[in-house]
Amino acid sequence: MSADPHCIFCKIVAGQIPAEKVHEDEHVLAFKDLHPAAPFHALLIPKEHIPTLNHLEEEHDLLMGRLLRAAGRVAAAHGLGAGYRLVGNCERAAGQEVFHIHVHILGGRKFGWPPG
Ligand code: 5GP
Ligand code: ZN
Repeated sequence: MSADPHCIFCKIVAGQIPAEKVHEDEHVLAFKDLHPAAPFHALLIPKEHIPTLNHLEEEHDLLMGRLLRAAGRVAAAHGLGAGYRLVGNCERAAGQEVFHIHVHILGGRKFGWPPG
């Protein structure tokens, strides 16, 4: 899927909207969440526009593996060795507001279980 001109995260990938980047490579980008829910809160996205986890095809398997590996790298680079939480909201009932796949990387505080 190519970039969606109306998607806020595609605009961040394109540099049309500023973001505080914490990781970038050819395939994925991570940047600080505008409204942090923890002392460290970044959003990790594929650069390709894919609306939700339900839109993934087999051709995305390598990309999503790269994305998850990058999550660990971001956490380690930001001192989250004691632990961190990855959150993926899929569809509105789960709280998804931006329809470009993203994983929240949260750290720096204790997290409850089950999540709210
Ligand atoms: P969702 O609810 O879709 O899982 O998460 C979307 C997240 O994107 C929210 O935590 C929200 O704070 C963040 N967000 C929305 N718009 C922007 C933006 O323009 N820049 C950044 N850095 N974060 C954003
Ligand atoms: Zn997008």
